Amino acid sequence: MYNITLIPGDGIGLEVTKAMKKVVKASGVDINWEEVAAGESVIEEYNTPLPEYVLDSIKKNKIAIKGPIATPVGKGFRSVNVALRKSLNLYANVRPVKTFEGIKSRYENIDLTIIRENTEDLYAGVEHMVGDIAAESIKIITKEATDRIVQFACDYTKNNNYKRLSCVHKANIMKLSDGLFLREFDRVCEENKIFRLNGEDAAARKYYADDVIVDAAAMNLVLTPENFDVLVMPNLYGDILSDLCAGLVGGLGIIPSANIGKDCAVFEAVHGSAPQIAGQNIANPTAIIQSAVMMLKYIGENKAAEKIEEALKKIFIEGKILTVDLGGSASTDEFADELCRLMEN
Ligand code: NAD
Repeated sequence: MYNITLIPGDGIGLEVTKAMKKVVKASGVDINWEEVAAGESVIEEYNTPLPEYVLDSIKKNKIAIKGPIATPVGKGFRSVNVALRKSLNLYANVRPVKTFEGIKSRYENIDLTIIRENTEDLYAGVEHMVGDIAAESIKIITKEATDRIVQFACDYTKNNNYKRLSCVHKANIMKLSDGLFLREFDRVCEENKIFRLNGEDAAARKYYADDVIVDAAAMNLVLTPENFDVLVMPNLYGDILSDLCAGLVGGLGIIPSANIGKDCAVFEAVHGSAPQIAGQNIANPTAIIQSAVMMLKYIGENKAAEKIEEALKKIFIEGKILTVDLGGSASTDEFADELCRLMEN
């Protein structure tokens, strides 16, 4: 029996986490979910969207899975997601993007992972008004945070049988901040014996490193996404490119993520609270179910994780029970029930 913190979150979070719990239970793993509320529903009572009991629960259990939490645009409280990642020092955000046979998308054979630095960059939230005529946001890139995210990316590349590790940056313009990120990328890659190609063919190498300027990366991810393996980058580029990559394989309803720190890990879908479709039982729970698969692998429950992965493969290949975003008409609950049925067979 595992004790795991569950934050249902806002909007479609309630529906997709309920579906996820049902599917995880059917995979045979015994989990005691410690449910804690955060986000819009608790602000009135606690005067904050992130009460202390949420952090206490995660610190105690070390593992959490969360639904999306809404953040007001241009005003109001700061993002709970960013606060969680910073308070628990969840420095690595891992977002695997893979083609699912059966899901209609523009591409085939995509298998890449975005590794996003999770604690600094423009997300440090250091901004201020200059009188009432200008606003300044400060981009912070430190050697310490860069070294640990690049080290994480090197390990991830090797442990997951990837070959190419690409640094995404804008060091041609932000010569100091992104320049530091790129310089440390090269240094840490060399320490890990992941070298840049020196004229030789990439095929001859087990691993290699390269760098791509973020705008060119956006274009190349649309033109030839199958050429990428692992991409490591500062916070903001990671946020934008992971939504772009979600679009390559069928949309935000699919893509999972893990926020990994030294002591704790928090798993969540890449998508937000989707207020337009909340409460209608039509959201696609695949992203949070795939996040649960990442979580099960993280705690060593590989058999259960593979069982869920097999059921997901089958449901998409059969193509009969699909949610609206994937061109079907099944509800969130019907999709989860079908996954449970497929796991029984
Ligand atoms: P969003 O991801 O909620 O929605 C973008 C689009 O994708 C919408 O059309 C939505 O209907 C669709 N979509 C998203 N998830 C889906 C799913 N599972 N099934 C079917 N369709 C799905 O992004 P947004 O509209 O920019 O943000 C809404 C709120 O969520 C904002 O308050 C934002 O701050 C928050 N947000 C939270 C997180 C998080 O908690 N990690 C991440 C992103 C956005």
